[in-house]
Amino acid sequence: MSDTIPADHNSALAPRRDFIREMVADDVANGHFGRAPATRFPPEPNGFLHMGHAKSICLNFGIAKEFGGTCNLRFDDTNPATEDVKYVEAIKRDIEWLGFQWDAEYYASDYFEKLYDIAEGLVRRDKAYVDSQTEQQIREGRGTVTTPGTPSVYRARSVEENLELLRRMRAGEFPDGAHVLRAKIDLAHPNMIMRDPLLLRIRHAHHYRRGNDWCIYPLYDFAHGLSDAIEGITRSLCTLEFKDSRDIYDWLVEEAGFVKPPTQIEFARLELDYTVLSKRKLLRLVNDGHVSGWDDPRMPTMAGLRRRGVRPDAIRAFADAVGVTRNKQRVEIGMFEHSIRDDLNMIVPRVLCVMNPIKVVLTNFPEGEVDELDASYYPHDVPLTGSRKVPFTRELYIDRDDFMEDPPKKFFRLAPGREVRLRYAYFITCQDVIKNDAGEIVELRCTYDPATRGGDSPDGRKVQGTLHWVSASHAVECEVRVYDRLFAQPDPDDVPDDQDFLTAINPQSLVRVTEAKIEPSVLRDAADTRYQFERVGYFWRDPDDSREDALVFNRIVGLRDSWAKQVTKK
Ligand code: ATP
Ligand code: MG
Repeated sequence: MSDTIPADHNSALAPRRDFIREMVADDVANGHFGRAPATRFPPEPNGFLHMGHAKSICLNFGIAKEFGGTCNLRFDDTNPATEDVKYVEAIKRDIEWLGFQWDAEYYASDYFEKLYDIAEGLVRRDKAYVDSQTEQQIREGRGTVTTPGTPSVYRARSVEENLELLRRMRAGEFPDGAHVLRAKIDLAHPNMIMRDPLLLRIRHAHHYRRGNDWCIYPLYDFAHGLSDAIEGITRSLCTLEFKDSRDIYDWLVEEAGFVKPPTQIEFARLELDYTVLSKRKLLRLVNDGHVSGWDDPRMPTMAGLRRRGVRPDAIRAFADAVGVTRNKQRVEIGMFEHSIRDDLNMIVPRVLCVMNPIKVVLTNFPEGEVDELDASYYPHDVPLTGSRKVPFTRELYIDRDDFMEDPPKKFFRLAPGREVRLRYAYFITCQDVIKNDAGEIVELRCTYDPATRGGDSPDGRKVQGTLHWVSASHAVECEVRVYDRLFAQPDPDDVPDDQDFLTAINPQSLVRVTEAKIEPSVLRDAADTRYQFERVGYFWRDPDDSREDALVFNRIVGLRDSWAKQVTKK
């Protein structure tokens, strides 16, 4: 993880210059389009939004905001099989959660009539024809990259015959696959996509918005660019896989007669280490039960990240830090984790939570007495103020990992005869170790120094360790879900040919700590409060599973890169 990543909490407004913004700035300067920059975010409503979509959202909405233009939300819903209104609702919620508001909401399925009219126009000008070959014949007729294709016998159909067949296709007279409409371009074109691409195909299927009233569905390339043009988009931003589609995009918007039509700019899709960013793969994780659902806190979906406790500010800052490039790049997950931590560090209160408790008895502290200590919620470098009282009593819990009976040299925490500081409280010294019959340590007998109240010794005595703790009689028992990376290797697809990405799953991606002890002050906080558990990490209550009488906390992110440490340990 690099320290040079800018800590920018306002990415949407930050003036940046990447190659796309340079082009848009040129558009504004030379007035080519004669209208303000217009972008769109065009999801297909067949799944939930993930971090890759977030990059595209930040780019499209960000440009509109920075250049005083507009950004539409357009559902590219031209495929009846997999789309659903529940995805439409989820996508809208996620975009708003990310902090963006679209100027207009459109549906490609509302353009079916317009696209049909454009199709008829093409047929009338002999720029498209109805082909009645089978799918396989069409594929074979395309040729290969090194050999030109061969024209279909139906390519020579008359305009009249094509028009009649197209109308009958629309009227539902033919079964699926009987005919398709193809553009009449060039079967020897060096770009395979231009070898008479399919425009419309017959599909007798139920569409979530159009019901059963439409049976000829546009192919992606036919619908996408023309939808952009219908909406007056200026720059159509898409990922690099669509580079070869640019020719058909330009051909269609020109043939359809649009003046100053939009043009496409491609950028590298976001690929993030230790996770997968593909709706298809995320769906497999859900369907095969590797996660609890689309909103499992380990999922790189907006729903998952939201439930985990990540704030939208962190996602925007991350998108900004990653930037926009023309070249494929994988991004280290540590960079995203840095954005999450950086977003929370300066705003969240610190509280004490012991994950793996062991009892400490202070033999010289009066039984039954409670010392209410002042504890600031924020460290000095955080410009927020606020404090609470934490009860200090004779019996406490500290973390088992903070004690060693026989410590190695570099261990600065509690050990027999060793003095340490308890955060906000006193110095304590370990006098005795109590074990059960099995030889396990069950209790530490310590003494405390009353002169060190508040955590400093009046005689200037120094201790090397400061531990977090809770009062045994006041602590609230809670469950803590420690989430980690979903995959055990940076590129989950980097597995032998006979295996798939699921074999790369990290079996430790969720560790449930069921008997953690947290200070009682949290019971007074709003349910959506995010915290730093001191010396542990950032947490918040699971919005679905936490109850007032059974608290459940999710780890949002660790304090530092625990993964790198684990890897070097073995
Ligand atoms: P997936 O591959 O996950 O199915 P998709 O591209 O098919 O994603 P769409 O709903 O078609 O999903 O995408 C909506 C927009 O989001 C498109 O403009 C697409 O380019 C963009 N997008 C999707 N994934 C990424 C990514 N990883 N990085 C950047 N942009 C992306
Ligand atoms: Mg897609």
